[in-house]
Amino acid sequence: MAIKLEIHATDPEVISLVQRYWAMNEECRPVEKVDALLPFREILKSHALAGFIRTQCTAFDENQSCSICGCALSITSRSEVKRYKQHPLSPCAACKAVLDEARRVSEAEAQAELERRVANRIGIVDALTIRYDAVPDDVALMLLALDRAVAPRLVGGCFTYRDCHALAPIWVEEFVDRLWNAKVLSDAPRATGAAAYSVKDEGLSYYSNRIKFSLVPDEFLGAGTEAFQEFIIRPYTDKKRLLALWYDYAVVDCMAYLYDQCEEHRLQVPPTKLNEIKSTVYTALKFFSVAEVWCMMWRVVQNTASLSNRKYYTREKAAATMPGKLLHQFEAARKGNTELTKYQRIKSLPAGMLGQVFNEFYGLDEDTDSVVVIKLFAEESQDRNEIEAKVDAKVRALMTAALENDMAAAVMFDFAELIRNGAGISDAIEQIVEVYAVSSNSEVEV
Ligand SMILES: [Zn+2]
Repeated sequence: MAIKLEIHATDPEVISLVQRYWAMNEECRPVEKVDALLPFREILKSHALAGFIRTQCTAFDENQSCSICGCALSITSRSEVKRYKQHPLSPCAACKAVLDEARRVSEAEAQAELERRVANRIGIVDALTIRYDAVPDDVALMLLALDRAVAPRLVGGCFTYRDCHALAPIWVEEFVDRLWNAKVLSDAPRATGAAAYSVKDEGLSYYSNRIKFSLVPDEFLGAGTEAFQEFIIRPYTDKKRLLALWYDYAVVDCMAYLYDQCEEHRLQVPPTKLNEIKSTVYTALKFFSVAEVWCMMWRVVQNTASLSNRKYYTREKAAATMPGKLLHQFEAARKGNTELTKYQRIKSLPAGMLGQVFNEFYGLDEDTDSVVVIKLFAEESQDRNEIEAKVDAKVRALMTAALENDMAAAVMFDFAELIRNGAGISDAIEQIVEVYAVSSNSEVEV
């Protein structure tokens, strides 16, 4: 018999009932039907009888064994009886209790370790300071925009990634992370407690939907409104960093447009092609305004959508052609083979506080021509020897790459055009290096 009984009852009639109920034949099927055992005293129904029997004994099926100690597993109804020996999969109640306890202990230890590390982190964060007057201009400008986006929580408060959504049209996390990396923001473990963190390797990892941030105080002035004035009144002079920030912001403004249009046509920007698309947008912004790049993107999405409706094409296959289409649009516009018009901003994608700050400080927006941007942030004239020394390595690498790729004439043409449009010499060289590093796909080591 495959069923072993542990009978708790002492009443002989009950004992006999339990034995009859669980009696199995050689094929492990019940010898008697439940109906044959009824009525038993005041019990008239089969499920009531099964319930009563459960209280009077524990049944073990020898065909089912514990995956740990190998003992027979307890079962509660005749339908659970197995006819053949089973491969052991689950532990018995006793082994499970041991396992549960071990898990509970290890979880408690892990939680204690997490709390210890978070407490340690609180100590580190409490001691953080920075010199506000040493913060680079692009970081300071982002802070001004962030202050508006999370007002009034930047000075003296804390905020989550989600609280920053008004900073830029999309990808605000990237800007917040830049501020975090620049050490002007820190995480705020005192505000979130351990719930925002997990243990990772020797340190901590965080949950992006739970983590909070706060402004790191100035070494001498603290983190109050007065200290924050430094970012409002400082002269913003590092044009190179400000220009780079503008391009980063403008790329995000363009990508927001692309995502919006793709969504409208139920297309997905392929994640593996994202960097390729961003590189082309970055390059295109050296020659066109944001609103003109929107025009390119609109065309790319229209073409992709109509391609996706063609026979033998799927949405995914069509979407994979987007980077190539964008590059084609850009090159056609560069060569004057197609006219771009300035497209309107989509109402649901406002410029964000970073766009607002650029507009207030420098009059820039999506319609600003690329040459105006370049002129605005062009470096002041420097000593010739100084400029030559600065650009020497880059020019050498650029010339080599241009000759190797048979692009020497195009390089000279674009360089002349940038200068004619008002770019400084070293700026123009830097931009040409970027353009030809992207379009020729060759390494330009500088
Ligand atoms: Zn066991």
